[in-house]
Amino acid sequence: MLQSEERLRILVEGIDDALFVYDTAGRILDCNESACSWLGHTREELLALRIQDIDAPALAKGFEERLRRQFAHGRYSYEGLHVTKDGRRIPVHINTTVIDYQGDKAILAVVRDITDRKRAEDEKRELESRLRRAQKMEAIGQLVGGVAHDFNNILTAIMGNVELLRGHLSQELMGDDPRLIHLDQIEQASLRAASLTRQMLAFSRRQAVKREILNLNHILTEMEKMLRRLISKDILLELKLASDLALVHADAGQIEQVVMNLVVNARDAMPDGGRLTLETKNAPLGDSYVVRHSEACPGPLVLLTATDTGCGMSTETLERIFEPFFTTKPNHLGTGLGLATVYGIVKQMEGHIKVASELEHGTTFEIYLPAVDAEASRPSPDLPGDPSLIGSETVLVCEDEEAVRELAARFLQGAGYTVLTAETAVQAIKISAAHTTPIHLLVTDLILPDMNGKKLADTLHATNPHLKTLFVSGYTPDVIAYHGVSAAGADLLEKPFNRRGLLQRVRSALQMR
Ligand code: ADP
Ligand code: MG
Repeated sequence: MLQSEERLRILVEGIDDALFVYDTAGRILDCNESACSWLGHTREELLALRIQDIDAPALAKGFEERLRRQFAHGRYSYEGLHVTKDGRRIPVHINTTVIDYQGDKAILAVVRDITDRKRAEDEKRELESRLRRAQKMEAIGQLVGGVAHDFNNILTAIMGNVELLRGHLSQELMGDDPRLIHLDQIEQASLRAASLTRQMLAFSRRQAVKREILNLNHILTEMEKMLRRLISKDILLELKLASDLALVHADAGQIEQVVMNLVVNARDAMPDGGRLTLETKNAPLGDSYVVRHSEACPGPLVLLTATDTGCGMSTETLERIFEPFFTTKPNHLGTGLGLATVYGIVKQMEGHIKVASELEHGTTFEIYLPAVDAEASRPSPDLPGDPSLIGSETVLVCEDEEAVRELAARFLQGAGYTVLTAETAVQAIKISAAHTTPIHLLVTDLILPDMNGKKLADTLHATNPHLKTLFVSGYTPDVIAYHGVSAAGADLLEKPFNRRGLLQRVRSALQMR
């Protein structure tokens, strides 16, 4: 049988918590092995110290008061910060009890290391601040998206009226008449505005993906001026574009965003200047073989490479760069969303990304995108009187934006349709009820002042089961899904639309079963 004091000693030495016994002046009278190993002191050293000597200096001021309370309350607990012999700080939780120690009142303190808990709390705080930042970006995105949506309405009206005017004038005027040239210039300017609007929507990520057959070289050339403004003067931007580059099936706004995000990162990696090279070429067959096999999708690839001479990355960083919110940049400079977005876009296109980087030796991003067969994808020319564009049915157009409504009506009338127009859903319902011959198609804005377009369609459908519907929207899939319309269906036309776009969709909506 062990002596009770010895048993106690074994217990005390066996626990991970540090234990201290100290007197009314804080003088350490006893401690266990954990206390010594934590703090890096020998037992003798600790017994020569006072408990306040191992507190972080910032806590020293409140010591007297704390000690008084410990003795007054019997039991007391608080969080503190202890300093080890070599200067490290350990966040601790302390529980004290008043005990009788060799005939005198003393304090027994049980001290627990809470480094892990503190770290988890810090991480949580950091995560919350990133979330707040992401929410801020989201709010800005919504604002920009809203403005861009209104712009789309205005641009639809401008571009459409130019088209109508050209239709009238081209019958009377010669091709080199200056008035036609002015029209061309208005059209060019509106196209530029439409592409800016697309960038705003790309930023707000509310834009529907609009794939077309593209030459990456054209996009890079168009962006060049803007990219030069984006990077500082001591970074040399070089474009190496292959003249025989295959085309890709892609959304121009998304490609612009990919390029922009890579360029911004390269700029950030070269604060003291350097060289940034953007290169396009058809991927060598060997590469495409490997890549395509891993993606289970055969065929040639287009390769876009961004190479910088910047700070490069460690392997640890390299492993995490595509994670959303992963950033090595100080608080306000990085969102950690740039490469996550790039990754999302490239995957959506069934492409592939390779990165090579070495600390202090720069970085290369390689983006492989599936190439398309150019012949198969050439659009057919818009023939006048194209039978796929004309019709004689009755169409009800419901759109609150006057310019857009008028334009759609004129395009449709020009193609032979009978057109009724309404400004609100209520008006459309009235018109439909009063109309004696059948209405074949409802063309409606998805968002009307009094009701959403889907609800209007359902209401009209109840009394006219043969009615077809074509929705028109400047918003994008998530908003549309919210309004209960499938974005994948053939029943959605995006603004800004042109004559051909509208007439084609009207025809296919009428032919839907
Ligand atoms: P952010 O730029 O907001 O930090 P990104 O997702 O664009 O977020 O990039 C994530 C991280 O990847 C960056 O913080 C940086 O550490 C690293 N990184 C990305 N591109 C480069 C590059 N060209 N050179 C060096 N590091 C890079
Ligand atoms: Mg970035």
